Amino acid sequence: MRYLGCHLSASDGNLAMVRTAQSIGANTFAFFTRNPRGSKAKAEDPADCVAAMDALKQLNFGKLVAHGAYTMNLCTADPEARAFAASVLCDDLRRMAALPGNYYNFHPGSHVGQGTETGISQIVDALKLAMAPGYPVTVLLETMAGKGSEIGGKFEELKAIIDGVGSEQIGVCLDTCHVWDGGYDIVNDLDGVLQEFDRVVGLNRLCALHLNDSKNVFGSHKDRHECIGDGNLGLATFEKIINHPALAGLPMILETPNELSGYQKEIALLRSMEK
Ligand code: FE
Ligand code: FE
Ligand code: ZN
Repeated sequence: MRYLGCHLSASDGNLAMVRTAQSIGANTFAFFTRNPRGSKAKAEDPADCVAAMDALKQLNFGKLVAHGAYTMNLCTADPEARAFAASVLCDDLRRMAALPGNYYNFHPGSHVGQGTETGISQIVDALKLAMAPGYPVTVLLETMAGKGSEIGGKFEELKAIIDGVGSEQIGVCLDTCHVWDGGYDIVNDLDGVLQEFDRVVGLNRLCALHLNDSKNVFGSHKDRHECIGDGNLGLATFEKIINHPALAGLPMILETPNELSGYQKEIALLRSMEK
């Protein structure tokens, strides 16, 4: 089973997103838990969460991949801002508990000159505080392009966070544009990159993918998404990805520069390449 979907607007609630996803041929989706470029979250609606969970089950959707705000930097240098980011993470995880069994993905953070080691330990501290035992959602660290002081551009950094947290309920969301920009050659050696991931992190921790083509050349450390087939990854790479046995069954989320109709076309395109 291939679970394909895209980012959807959360403004009309969870059930509305399930219906929208269904209307464009998706069977998973992503959404921002709050304003992605701010920190404001909308009012909670428990009845909507229950209705959405029912609909997801009825429609045999794959796991959803919620996305934390871009502004949430768990390893920012200013202690007050860092504490605020940690409180946002706590609130996001508490809210996500209303959608049990799904994923919460976020960008690990940028250490802004504090150094990778300090950054990693600050991210670990925040996660340990936020993740209560028995928590019903798996938290995913996104692979990053390694722009500026971003943590997560190397598999080793993700592994260090996972080991530091020491929970079964933490995994990785692999972003195809980010790993390419970060220097992992999924165009010419997808198998080799997945083997490297398995060696460093373990494929059992790979829980979801972000499917994006890249506007940038290999190893550029830039992070600019392109529509599927229009960038430097190319259609052949996505054909390999969606048919790769190691990635079977994982939710795959489009974050390409598209409106809903564009996402619908890309989902159909990807489904047409299924073998
Ligand atoms: Fe992301
Ligand atoms: Fe992404
Ligand atoms: Zn990106």
